[in-house]
Parts: sequence; structure tokens; C-alpha cells
Amino acid sequence: MLSTTAAAAPEAPATTAAAAPLQQWCDGKLASAECLHVPLTSHALHYGTGVFEGIRSYATADGGAVFRLDAHLQRMARGARALAMHFDADQATTAIIDTLRANRQRDAYVRPLLWYGEGGLGLDVAPLKSHLMVASMPWSSHLGGHRVRLAVSRLRRTPATSVPALKLCGNYINSILAKHDVSERGFGEALFLDGEQNVVECTGENVFLVKDGRVIAVAHDDALPGITRDTLIELTGAEVRPVTLAELHAADEVFLTGTSAEVAAIEALDDTVYGDNPVTRELQALYARLVRGEVAGYEHWLTRF
Ligand code: PMP
Repeated sequence: MLSTTAAAAPEAPATTAAAAPLQQWCDGKLASAECLHVPLTSHALHYGTGVFEGIRSYATADGGAVFRLDAHLQRMARGARALAMHFDADQATTAIIDTLRANRQRDAYVRPLLWYGEGGLGLDVAPLKSHLMVASMPWSSHLGGHRVRLAVSRLRRTPATSVPALKLCGNYINSILAKHDVSERGFGEALFLDGEQNVVECTGENVFLVKDGRVIAVAHDDALPGITRDTLIELTGAEVRPVTLAELHAADEVFLTGTSAEVAAIEALDDTVYGDNPVTRELQALYARLVRGEVAGYEHWLTRF
């Protein structure tokens, strides 16, 4: 069955009837989201000159915990370096925890964004002033938690030789266009290939397959180095290697990984329909316990607050 939330924008928030306006952190201060404004001539608004992260915190038996915060902030720091922006990971950590506490949230999606603001609309970023913000919001998987129908995108992934595979804001136009294309054709998510029919990734998730009981993680230079992917590789000891489209069609199971989507089972790829997905179900359950601090040996992945 087609996921009802499948056409949502990548990483779209779940709608909630929030009573009080949420607090957001911006440049050192927490304020009501309604009170924060950015100038219309902000550089990032025109050119996508920013870097963001998609992070989750979870309710555990012992308070809230942000999952793999250090890895997310390290990736954000790489994006900041690519854009020649100053980024202070310790400040971002404090901002994230303060925001979650101010909003009294444990299960939440956390969105830090570092962007270029004022200083001109030229393409030289040297004169520009950068800003850091953190928002946190209620969240459910943007793939709806159902089995997803996947279609090969008619658009190619931006090659990493043109734009590094990092969470640079402008880079997401590629994902948004691909998602729109497949949504219009009635599919829940788009699969990017390269020019040689190798699998790259999806618009906001990495790709795995299961064949004869073996778990295989798709490796491709143009794919975002996903933190959920890294987590699943560590948990399963997956083989990590390039995968062709033909191999994906012939898989027993296919699943996607991402902070927002977590571990999402694939129902079909274009006109290939997959059968039952017992390995994916097992990994979904394991991941759900892991992020909530219920699997021994992974405390170092949790930043408790
Ligand atoms: N690929 C893309 C393009 C993404 O936007 C995401 C989401 N961050 C992923 C893969 C999965 O990465 P992660 O597991 O770190 O969320």
C-alpha cells in the first residue's frame, strides 16, 4: 500500500497541535519562533549558502538522549569548512541541549542550521556574516513508517566532484526535484543512480539490500555518508560495496536508512515487488531499542540531557 505521508517534503515535520510556540535558539539566545526574523537579503535565502543537520533525540528510561550528536556535528563541521564558515561544535551542542530543555522535549527532531546572512549578494562569501540557529520539533518518520514504494529518479544525483556529498542547503534542490518527480508518478521515494546504473542513494536516505541472508550496504562516492548507515553497518557487519540497479531488483529485501526515516522497508522498486522483509523488521526493532538506550554497549552514542 502506498504510504499516505509519502508525498511529504524530505524530512517534513509531523503536524501537531502545539499549544505554546516552540523556542528556537539563534546566535546565542533562545526566543519564541514567532519572534525571530532574518533579513530578506540574507545570502542563504538567495543561493542556499548554508549547512544543516538532521538529528533526533529520543525518550529513554532515564531522560532524553540525542543519538550520535558528535557524528552529526562533525559532518556539519565538514560542511562549514567547505563553505569557509566558522563553526563551534561545543556551542552547537549547548544550543541543542538548551533548545530541547526549553521545549521540554525528549522525542524530537533537531535542526541546527549555519547560514550566511548579510554582507552582500555577490558570490564571494568572504564578506558575509554567518549565523547559527537550532530548532527542535515533534517528528515522525517522513516516510510514514510504512513500507515504501521506490522509483528510479529521472534526475541524477549531483556528483560529489561538483558539490561535496554533505548537508549543504542548496544541494537539496536535487533531492527536492527528484522527490517531486516520483511523487507525481505515485511513488513514495526516489532512487538516484549514476551514469553506469549504479545505485547512489535516495533523496534523504542511504540504501541497503539483503540477499541470501547477507546484508549489503551500498557504497557510492556521491552519496551522503549517513550516520544511520554507519550505525547499521556496525550493528550488522554488513558488506560495503557498490551495487547495480539490476542487483537491487534481484534482492530479497531492500531497506533505507536515515535519521528521519530510521530503518524503512521497501515494498517495491518500480515494477519489482519485494516479498516479506523479516531481516528489515528485525533491524528496525534493534535500531528502535538502540536509540532509546536499550542495547548494552552503545552508551557512547547517546548524549543524555
Ligand atoms: N542521504 C541524504 C541525501 C540525506 O539527506 C540523508 C539524511 N541526512 C541521508 C542520506 C541519511 O543520513 P543520516 O543517516 O546521517 O541521517
